[in-house]
Amino acid sequence: MPIDATLPYDDSNIFARILRGELPSKTVYEDEFALAFHDINPQAPLHILVIPKGAYVSWDDFSERGGDDEIAGFVRAVGRVARENGLVAPGYRLLANVGFDSHQEVPHLHVHIFAGQQLGPMLAR
Ligand code: 5GP
Repeated sequence: MPIDATLPYDDSNIFARILRGELPSKTVYEDEFALAFHDINPQAPLHILVIPKGAYVSWDDFSERGGDDEIAGFVRAVGRVARENGLVAPGYRLLANVGFDSHQEVPHLHVHIFAGQQLGPMLAR
């Protein structure tokens, strides 16, 4: 069920629980600002989620309330995951769903990294 991204952050969401170590995840990368892990239901041969460690609902929320250090750290982590997994030469796709129309399901900001095949058109038609 897509979420309303204007709602306040809900500390019980799945990614908050992963960050607290209450739920397992297959970690790809971690630093002070970000955690990257494999999506539980991959939509491409490689499907990684990158999340900031802070409590932000969406890209919108993060860009408004996040500190410059958190934003820089998160953006650098996304790029680093792509480079360290050899994705730059073949190419990859970044996606961040926000709110109802975009079908955001988990109310903690996440960037999807898709790779490993021709990724097709940008949007379903
Ligand atoms: P959204 O639709 O919010 O952009 O994407 C949420 C993503 O989180 C989906 O691709 C879904 O498969 C993934 N996901 C949901 N629950 C879990 C979980 O418990 N662990 C992991 N690794 N991924 C999850």
